[in-house]
Amino acid sequence: MQKLIVGVTGLFLALLIVLSVLLWPAHKQVRAAAVEVPGVSVFDSLKTPEGPVRIYYVNTSDQKLPDSVLTHSVFIFEWADGRQFMLDAGMTEARAIEFGENIELALGGDRAQPHGNIASVLGRDIERVSGVGFTHLHIDHTEGVGIFCENTSSEPMLLQTSRQATAHNFNTTEGASIVNSSCLKGQVVDRPGIVTSDVFPGLGFMGIGGHTPGSTLFAAWLGDQLYVFSGDITNSKAEIIEDKPKQLVYSYLLVPEDTEQAARLRQWLRELDAMDQVTVVVSHDLGDIENSGLAEWTGRP
Ligand SMILES: [Zn+2]
Repeated sequence: MQKLIVGVTGLFLALLIVLSVLLWPAHKQVRAAAVEVPGVSVFDSLKTPEGPVRIYYVNTSDQKLPDSVLTHSVFIFEWADGRQFMLDAGMTEARAIEFGENIELALGGDRAQPHGNIASVLGRDIERVSGVGFTHLHIDHTEGVGIFCENTSSEPMLLQTSRQATAHNFNTTEGASIVNSSCLKGQVVDRPGIVTSDVFPGLGFMGIGGHTPGSTLFAAWLGDQLYVFSGDITNSKAEIIEDKPKQLVYSYLLVPEDTEQAARLRQWLRELDAMDQVTVVVSHDLGDIENSGLAEWTGRP
């Protein structure tokens, strides 16, 4: 019996060593993307009368989990002249159901309920989208780009950091290849601090790492309220407020994360969200998005 226990322990340790060696490059890569978090004044540069006049959310698919409702959200920033910028693309209905089955296995909960892909939801307004960005290149944020491009005649500008464009691991290569072979025309911009584009005044983005090497935070003011889009640094707002890290199996084996940077970002986002004029928006947290003050996209107003 003792021999068996020693044998099983040895096998487990050997497996752990093999996994560590295999995953080491991905962990090293995501740690290289860590940045120091700036003070809140970094967002002052985004305040401009030319900035977006509306920000909508689209719930492309949702899934009831034991203690929250997970959504695959898309955010649409709109300027006074009708131009729009799309943040993330969700998934097609079929892919959302398939993705939901894996979530069901891992976390429990109900079946995923798709509400349409981003092209069907935007309808003819899809032509107004002249810029696109991604919080990161995981498939649940990028797969919808295919159907988006099939339904638009324009070639929207893709705003991303060079790290998002080039630093990939086994979880982002599929999303990156979908984006790279799409109708989006890449504009890689790299500057320290928050990056802006003259084409989309008031919208800023910066690489933050933590979840993936290319994880990027987007932010914009709507009047006196600053909206900060934190992507998948956490899966819910509660994880920010309660400073709750993701499960070790997730962060070390399934999705190699920089857990130290994620902890720094949770603290920073918690401090930001506690300010009256700042709202942090978590991509997958439907309940929080519905309470964020952003309007749900229901078509042209
Ligand atoms: Zn995600």
